[in-house]
Amino acid sequence: MTMDALAPAPAGLRGWPAPARPPRPADPALEARIDHILAGMGLAQKVGQMTQPDIRWITPDEVRQHHIGSVLNGGGAWPGGQKHASLQAWLALARAFDAAALASGAPVPIPLLWGTDAVHGHNNLVGATLFPHNIGLGATGDAELVRRIGEATALAVRASGIGWAFAPTLAVVGDLRWGRSYESFSDDPALVARLGAAAIEGLQGTLGSDGSVLATAKHFIGDGGTTDGTDQGVTRCSRARMAEVHAAGYASALAADVQTVMASFNSWLETDDQGRPLHDHGKLHGSHHLLTGLLKEHWGFDGLVVSDWNGVGQVAGCTNSRCAAALNAGIDMVMVPEQWREFIADTLALVHSGAVPMARIDDAVRRILRVKLRAGLFDQPSSQGRWAGRQEALDARALARQAVRQSLVLLKNLGGLLPLARHSRLLVVGKSADSVQNQCGGWSLTWQGSDNANSDFPAATSVLAGLRQALGADQVVFSETGEGVDPAGFDAVLAVLGELPYAEGAGDIAAPATLHHSSRHPEDLAVLKRVAWRGVPVVTLLITGRPLLCNDLINRSDAVVAGWLPGSEGAGVADLLLRDAQGGVAHAFSGSLPFAWPGGAGSTLWPRGFCLQAGQAAAPGVLDETVPAATGAATERLLFDRVALPPCVLRIASPSGSWPERDLGQDLNAVLRWPAAEPALEVATVQMHTQQDARRVHWAGPARIFLACNPQLRLDALPDAALLFDLQVHQAPASAVLLSLVSEGGQTATLDLGPWLRRQAPGAVRTVVLPLARFAALGVDLGRVASPFGLTASSGLRLVLARIRVVAGAGRAPGVLGEADVPAVRP
Ligand code: BGC
Ligand code: BGC
Repeated sequence: MTMDALAPAPAGLRGWPAPARPPRPADPALEARIDHILAGMGLAQKVGQMTQPDIRWITPDEVRQHHIGSVLNGGGAWPGGQKHASLQAWLALARAFDAAALASGAPVPIPLLWGTDAVHGHNNLVGATLFPHNIGLGATGDAELVRRIGEATALAVRASGIGWAFAPTLAVVGDLRWGRSYESFSDDPALVARLGAAAIEGLQGTLGSDGSVLATAKHFIGDGGTTDGTDQGVTRCSRARMAEVHAAGYASALAADVQTVMASFNSWLETDDQGRPLHDHGKLHGSHHLLTGLLKEHWGFDGLVVSDWNGVGQVAGCTNSRCAAALNAGIDMVMVPEQWREFIADTLALVHSGAVPMARIDDAVRRILRVKLRAGLFDQPSSQGRWAGRQEALDARALARQAVRQSLVLLKNLGGLLPLARHSRLLVVGKSADSVQNQCGGWSLTWQGSDNANSDFPAATSVLAGLRQALGADQVVFSETGEGVDPAGFDAVLAVLGELPYAEGAGDIAAPATLHHSSRHPEDLAVLKRVAWRGVPVVTLLITGRPLLCNDLINRSDAVVAGWLPGSEGAGVADLLLRDAQGGVAHAFSGSLPFAWPGGAGSTLWPRGFCLQAGQAAAPGVLDETVPAATGAATERLLFDRVALPPCVLRIASPSGSWPERDLGQDLNAVLRWPAAEPALEVATVQMHTQQDARRVHWAGPARIFLACNPQLRLDALPDAALLFDLQVHQAPASAVLLSLVSEGGQTATLDLGPWLRRQAPGAVRTVVLPLARFAALGVDLGRVASPFGLTASSGLRLVLARIRVVAGAGRAPGVLGEADVPAVRP
């Protein structure tokens, strides 16, 4: 389908609902103040206001020099790069930034805004209480609770000197395979609207007051609607659906006086009601229709629109630093974490050339100033005020524990097993029983929520710790795997199972894979098989960012509870699972499903809103354990995307065996030089298309980087397939660069990529397409591929690699590299 053939963008805004409440009335005194400030600003100051670097790439003094308007700390960015930075260190950095902004020498000094992803509490800050992620709050359905959590979060954020939270997410999830499903309250637009507004009211309180931070409605719009749940993908739907489903949260967010909106990474392909394409709006970051036409003009939003992390670089024809289309579409502040110097220079050039009108710049800065004035920053920077530095503002444990209690959903309770008696002797098993990291999920100290130990959460309690507190340590025996322990002699077994932490696209379950849990986490079923059906009742608690297709686990459990991602207060679980000392029910289950729970291929086991009461004996009977067929487009097999995907790992080796081979691992933060004594290779994580999606590889000596797959891959089933990968060449040596594919037994097909690499412009993003038939012709067995990708070179090659994949049909598409471009190397 070619988009050029489609109708032009409909000019009018027919079909979009009017805002729920009229916007704030114009405030002439405020606008006059803005006029005055604007009149004293030069173009460089204005562009500086529109620039938002990450604290890892800018110093306070640079903020001063360049009149920077805002900074952020991305997921896992801490003062001084210290995960355990103290509250005082956070505050000191905020004060340094604030002071620098005010010292810029402008006629009217403009205070700085610092934004942070406080998405379940102040989650980048060690020791702060972490609340359940939004999916759990959706299960509570309790707007007042969500408002109070917003309030508590605002105090913690202000304690660290920060004035802006990038929350709440208002996504309405269409496909739970999306890695951000847990950031969504529900797939019920009305519930998202209600809880989203409550979160904003809590965070903002009275704008400009001491305990207030600015909230962000994100990600505008349609982030939860992408095909197959692909993060940053294409949302294909009609205008009516966009309006009824995905816009619901925004109407109520505007009514709640939200001052900032974050543009979304997704694209929108607008269809008619029959699903036929009508208009390709492209990436939201470049959509004037949505950002300006709908949001600002039709709905009257007069706050600021911030772009997402390098989001402007995804607009057609743009780079991270240069994007007239996004600015003209209505982006006011640009999140350009690293390349902010280039952004300033490029934007100045765009204005000088007329590509971005001065009036657009003035409007963007007017909006930024309006928000800063409304937030009271001109009177008191965020790092001042009565909460600054107050350690007790980080502690909201009682509230979080209450939220945990309200968020658990009882799904199965054979014979009224739950709640258990206080005097029970419990056997606890499962990987998430004593893992605060698993409880917290993504966006917890680190971006992905991984690389944390329990000791990184000093104030937290794991589920296990909570049970030990309640029952007495000697009544609880813990065995993570359940190996070698006999359930006999215990009153019950509690298995705490589920997903491991992830954030954004790293959490996508890529189509055609399904929500079938045991395909991804066979270890959980293995644990249950050790303890189930041994005469002792089994309770399963699922620590998960989404409903899971897990009939096999449910069949092996007498009771099942969805625990979502409860955060730092694991003790809230014991409150619900156990009776009080007198045998009464201390806290009744009250949570209900925010999403339907899947039961099999396309079928629902429990509908949205489902909940059992404790003591109710309902059970679903024996469930079908057939592994469901894959759904979605089965045309692509990803092999490497940020990390090597199972069953493959990324390895490096010496062609002559002169140094030990090794795995590159999954750590996205490390720069690896190997071998340590005299490095032949340096490998680091960088961005090509989206965050941390690529590896930069520098050769200082002979070395090979390759994917090793075990079990071997069957690549013969995809018709006309090709091996694809994206690369940028920074330097190509005169010598050969060998690309190889290896099948079982060591048969190797080799092509020389060198001549082609030398012809590419440095830094240009290219997709290499090599038909698998070419490899087959060189004698490898595509039915048993041990290494689908390998690059061998000697010193001087420098390139960036991303998205290594095999795509059906691509072997016949235009653009494949044939023998003339990439000659075969015959042994
Ligand atoms: C990561 C980015 C990510 C961001 C989100 C950063 O720490 O490096 O890739 O997009 O966090 O906040
Ligand atoms: C995410 C946003 C987040 C931003 C800043 C992006 O990768 O999509 O939700 O607010 O990073 O950390």
